[in-house]
Amino acid sequence: MPIPQLIIRGHRVVLADSIAGASIHIHNGRITKITSYDDVTSNCEIVESGDASIVMPGLVDTHVHINEPGRTDWEGFATATRAAAAGGITTLVDMPLNSIPPTTTVEGLKAKVEAARGQCYVDVGFWGGIVPGNTPELAALLQAGVVGFKCFLIHSGVDEFPNVTEEDLRSAMPELARLGAALIVHAEVPGPINRAAVPACHLEAASEDENCSSAYKTFLESRPRAAENEAVGLMIKLAREFGGRIHIVHHSSADALPMVREARSTGVSITAETCPHYLTFAAEEISDGATEFKCCPPIRERENREQLWQALANGTIDMVVSDHSPCPPDMKLQESGDFLKAWGGISSLQLRLPATWTEAQQRGHSIEDLARWLCGAPAALVGLAGRKGALGVGGDADIVIWNPEQEFLVEPDVLHHRHKLTPYAGRTLAGVVEKTFLRGEKIYDAGKFTTEPRGLLLQV
Ligand SMILES: [Zn+2]
Repeated sequence: MPIPQLIIRGHRVVLADSIAGASIHIHNGRITKITSYDDVTSNCEIVESGDASIVMPGLVDTHVHINEPGRTDWEGFATATRAAAAGGITTLVDMPLNSIPPTTTVEGLKAKVEAARGQCYVDVGFWGGIVPGNTPELAALLQAGVVGFKCFLIHSGVDEFPNVTEEDLRSAMPELARLGAALIVHAEVPGPINRAAVPACHLEAASEDENCSSAYKTFLESRPRAAENEAVGLMIKLAREFGGRIHIVHHSSADALPMVREARSTGVSITAETCPHYLTFAAEEISDGATEFKCCPPIRERENREQLWQALANGTIDMVVSDHSPCPPDMKLQESGDFLKAWGGISSLQLRLPATWTEAQQRGHSIEDLARWLCGAPAALVGLAGRKGALGVGGDADIVIWNPEQEFLVEPDVLHHRHKLTPYAGRTLAGVVEKTFLRGEKIYDAGKFTTEPRGLLLQV
């Protein structure tokens, strides 16, 4: 057994099957041994967590839009990964769109890797993208290191990442099944959205009601649950036909949950994620013009939110990821408050742990539940189980120490995202990240970044 270079220990360590006092022995960035709290060697550095603090696996966030290169003024690798470190996240996986070029070709992945190199404070992986016609590219992209592939069933918001149709998926899915690669899906189809009543304010003839497009209700009705429900139904149908591994991203419509549950129980390989904003906010409470709450699919009613919580509790939804999708604040059109024209995307990377915990504890969920939703399940989605997302011998020593009882106020100066506009502003959240360790090295300590950017680009 090698002599540990570092021991991190505490009385509340999140282990595979319990929370207990333990010492995590670390050598060359890996966990070499987990012993009882008192079983430590004297000749190495020991980091003690406070009695109230939790020692947990570093968080894994598999849904982050970094936008660099091409839209670096929206968010970049340096700012996003600093925010991640401050939020206890040690691994994030970048989405294949909103950067230019998108990650739909090997060239696109190379551009990403070039842009990211030397800038990342945490480990970073990359999703590839599926767009019409790029099936022949998928094997090479996987070979070049993407963790899996994302597609949209509706306009993605950016023209250089077009959505696919059922016909396109009939080309891509057999190839994905052959490659054993996961397909993650933005599950909204256009039909029900096109059929949703077009608000009068959105038509050429000006409406009497000038405030129509700044009403949250108008936006909510423009993205009905049926769009998600039909999309999930389509993906289950195709998964039954072609096999392969399906994952629904940012699930919002509770109506589709029974379908997911039923599909899984009959052998379809399907998982689902939701996001802190769907678990925190409710449509009834969103003020008109408050476009910082706009995302697609939308934040729905309170009753829907509680069903999402139940789905997390019973395992229908597997994980909570951020879908951090920022933009320059002027694109949120805060002055006009026009929900229909504002950019859809919520900025929350750094806040995923406290935002989820604040709501989870109010509903009686445990720290173990939290660790499964924020660490273990996302790591498994991208093939990193065993290395990331759990405190286990042989795994990377990615660790967050945080205090679940301590609260803080979300103010711009605590946020490290490039842009500070977020619907969490002004809220008090429970759960303060104290220290973050990446492969045994302390990268964040009480508001300070303690190393140069040493994050690895995973699998590339
Ligand atoms: Zn997204």
